[in-house]
Amino acid sequence: MSLIASRLSQIKPSPTLAISEQARELIRQGQDVISLSAGEPDFDTPTFVKQAAVNAIWDGATKYTAVGGSVALREAIARKFARENGLKYELDEIIASVGAKHILYNALMATLNAGDEVLIPAPYWVSYPDMVTLAGGKSVIIQTSEKKGFKITPEQLDAAVTSKTKWLILNSPGNPTGSAYTETELKALGKILLKHPQVYVLSDDIYEHILYDGLTFNTLAHVVPKLKSRVLTINGVSKAYAMTGWRIGYAGGPKEIIKAMTKIQSQSTSNPCSIAQAAAIAALDGDQRFLQERTADFQHRRDVIVKGINAIEGLSCLLPEGAFYIFVNVSSFIRQSPEQQAPFADDLEVTKFLLEKAMIAVVPG
Ligand code: PLP
Repeated sequence: MSLIASRLSQIKPSPTLAISEQARELIRQGQDVISLSAGEPDFDTPTFVKQAAVNAIWDGATKYTAVGGSVALREAIARKFARENGLKYELDEIIASVGAKHILYNALMATLNAGDEVLIPAPYWVSYPDMVTLAGGKSVIIQTSEKKGFKITPEQLDAAVTSKTKWLILNSPGNPTGSAYTETELKALGKILLKHPQVYVLSDDIYEHILYDGLTFNTLAHVVPKLKSRVLTINGVSKAYAMTGWRIGYAGGPKEIIKAMTKIQSQSTSNPCSIAQAAAIAALDGDQRFLQERTADFQHRRDVIVKGINAIEGLSCLLPEGAFYIFVNVSSFIRQSPEQQAPFADDLEVTKFLLEKAMIAVVPG
């Protein structure tokens, strides 16, 4: 009898973490590695947020809170959804967890039965399909193309839905392509979703505040109000406020789903860290002007790197509309058939080459 549960054999370790690990090992050996693998702002957490956490410790906010986050945090989240997204959620329609990743995990564990399908547009954040598998569901990947800006079309969505579809995962601005859906595009997808009442939507809005060129952010529950009762609007403080280590993510959505997610949380992690909750309140309620300055910095870096990549023969990339990734087209270096003269068999070999020869850690697409 094997010690490790059989469900583990169906999931892969995160390729991002594997590359980061290899990069760390090279750094340990004294190599000068540029690590572009983990999605994390290099800015520090704002001082006023850190101070709120220090105050929380001295004020005794060091005990268990309500499982789904303190009333004060859920009130701050409700204010955020109302102020920034035009979405009204009651406190029992909100949950806070240990990062947006935990929110997604809870949501999938709380809703998927064996064989339930989850639609995932590709390229996607590497954790989605494995979380679906862990929860017993089946990922159905919808391929997008560079030509279409890495976005799914209403026709593709309609063709992918079956009677077993439970969720569509929408991530905009998206990891890893930086594509962001416009209001018109979301409305067109919404029209299809309205035809299929069995389909719910995980709207992963974690990159909401990292959007370039003056684009405005759109989220499905606001753009198509008739769908609000079928959307879990997911966000967190990690990316916007440079708080990846604090581990606070949150969601607003139907009471029934929030209650089920809270039940899972009550038997696994209990509440997210009380001190991080206090810090998240400060972040959400505080002066938001610094977000624009940070986004301007990210935009400047995006422009430099996209220009540089496109100047290299054989490489190209689209201009990301948001998030802090670039998705580089390396296909001219990959053999499309065994006879073709190209140096690499696949994208993984390209990333290995970059790490071993150039000391640059990147993630395969
Ligand atoms: N969603 C996407 C698309 C991400 O890229 C990430 C982090 O890389 C997350 C969710 C998780 O963020 P966190 O768990 O730090 O809130």
